[in-house]
Amino acid sequence: MEEIVLKGIPAAPGIAAGRAFILDKQDFIITPRAIMEKEIPIEIARFEEALITTREEILAIQKKISVDMEVQHAKIFDAHLLVLEDRSLIEEFIRRIKEEKLSAEYIFSEVIKKYVKAFSNIEDEYLRERISDINDVGRRVLKNLTEETRLHDFQDLTEKLIIIAHDLSPSDTATMFNKNIIAFATDIGGKTSHSAIMAKSLGIPAVVGLKDSTLRIHNQDYIVVDGRKGLVIVHPNEETRIFYSDAQTRIIEFQDQFQEIRDLPTKTTDGHEITLLANLEFPKEIPAILKHGAHGIGLYRTEYFYMNRVDLPTEEEQFEAYRHVAQAMAPRSVTIRSLDLGGDKFISSLQIPKDMFPFLGWRAIRFCLARPDIFKTQLRAILRASVHGNIRLMYPMITGPGEFRQANDILNEVKRDLREENISFDEELPVGVMIETPSAAMTADLLAKEADFFSIGTNDLIQYTLAVDRVSEQTADLYEPGHPAVLRLIKRTIDAAHEASISVGLCGEMSSEPTLALILLGMNLDEFSMSPLSILQIKKLIRSVSLKDAQDLAKKVLEFSTGQKVEEVGLARLKELAPNIINTA
Ligand code: PEP
Ligand code: MG
Repeated sequence: MEEIVLKGIPAAPGIAAGRAFILDKQDFIITPRAIMEKEIPIEIARFEEALITTREEILAIQKKISVDMEVQHAKIFDAHLLVLEDRSLIEEFIRRIKEEKLSAEYIFSEVIKKYVKAFSNIEDEYLRERISDINDVGRRVLKNLTEETRLHDFQDLTEKLIIIAHDLSPSDTATMFNKNIIAFATDIGGKTSHSAIMAKSLGIPAVVGLKDSTLRIHNQDYIVVDGRKGLVIVHPNEETRIFYSDAQTRIIEFQDQFQEIRDLPTKTTDGHEITLLANLEFPKEIPAILKHGAHGIGLYRTEYFYMNRVDLPTEEEQFEAYRHVAQAMAPRSVTIRSLDLGGDKFISSLQIPKDMFPFLGWRAIRFCLARPDIFKTQLRAILRASVHGNIRLMYPMITGPGEFRQANDILNEVKRDLREENISFDEELPVGVMIETPSAAMTADLLAKEADFFSIGTNDLIQYTLAVDRVSEQTADLYEPGHPAVLRLIKRTIDAAHEASISVGLCGEMSSEPTLALILLGMNLDEFSMSPLSILQIKKLIRSVSLKDAQDLAKKVLEFSTGQKVEEVGLARLKELAPNIINTA
């Protein structure tokens, strides 16, 4: 078969070669099969058996996930169990099979289709969100009815596979901690969308924004995913296979060479020390974070607690997780970000329509200020955990000092409550601001007087500054970290922090891009926080250059009028200053 090269957006580095598994094409096409009157009870019994088997499967997955990962991911399946127990669905099945006298799988697939259709027309966004639960469960039951094994069950996967999907939801990625999933590629998404960030935390290569990969790749096709260049090669010819197999070996060698510097100081050649931190989505990543020598956690994204579940996480559940992470990382610091709901991070358990949380709307701190009940529960858990390690707290999407004060007022109320209840917490808990809106960057001098530290969230800062949706593959070319407006806002933020003698870090994807990291170093950034996999490469970069050279470069590029020129000149200088950190595999 002829080799096809599909071009997308590089989302997570690395190369993987293997068989494709199309997640979106798992729908069963079931043709009607007539049955005799006397077969009806047999078909109903088959159906009931399939329901029982499906229930057992879901419970087993749920149990496995709650042992392997955090409880919240296991709760995703509560909604699936509810669908299985739905009386009206079961009654409709029994009524129709008696009337229509067609096979159980056909009748069940028709009932499921009808449900999905009915739910798609419902105004209530929460109920509409249940469609994916109904589809998931429907597919499981059909698999058990038809004795097909096509349905994915990532937990028990034994064959190495590359997942191809239109999009991957948090509930998909939550079950993807399996070494047999070696890469993924999606039709939609940008460099900083949820699935790209997840691929990095899973440590596997990924390409997003392929537009129509699910149409052009078929189940079991042999493919190569090149996460560095954003390519998917379908039916690679012999030459291509050899090329990528060699490249894979070189990449491993390239990464391995950095291990030797893991325990050495993160200092420039002229003695300037930098803090290198990791971003964390799931506590399961802690071993990788320690393996790559992170000095701490610069961003603990807590949204995953709240996503894809039927209830809100309790204080106790959150406390246990925060304490676990704080203790595992101690004495290193752990920066917990308060809930950043909104944009592509949606919480179905709130029963509030998704449309209410656009990127430019009721997101992150705005939502928390409006729902102090939810916010306070989280703050109590964070404060209680603060005595078990070195915790810092930061608020997302702050737009100015007023909002920062309002958040702190709630924090102070929670502190008062805890004191009254004689519950101990770190009275000196550092509280920082994420600088991820242009307005926060423009008021950084004012915020710096009140905050204990800054963390620049460039994933959002870039989208809000340039008016480019971060999850859209259509405008991915316009999403430019090196754009003069972005660089100026970052510079302004760093200078304001230093003026007020507070530390400033950056936890967006930008900090792990070598060219941009060199420029950020030259802008005097103190802390770089990133996916664990990139830490040692950036450490090598810092150890290879002088602060003076980086500062000269930053000064020069800040005068440029386009992001393109910034990247070109930055890359050329990077090649001169630190050729050994560039991966040429
Ligand atoms: C950011 O916006 O840069 C950031 C780190 O936060 P998130 O990607 O979770 O929005
Ligand atoms: Mg953000």
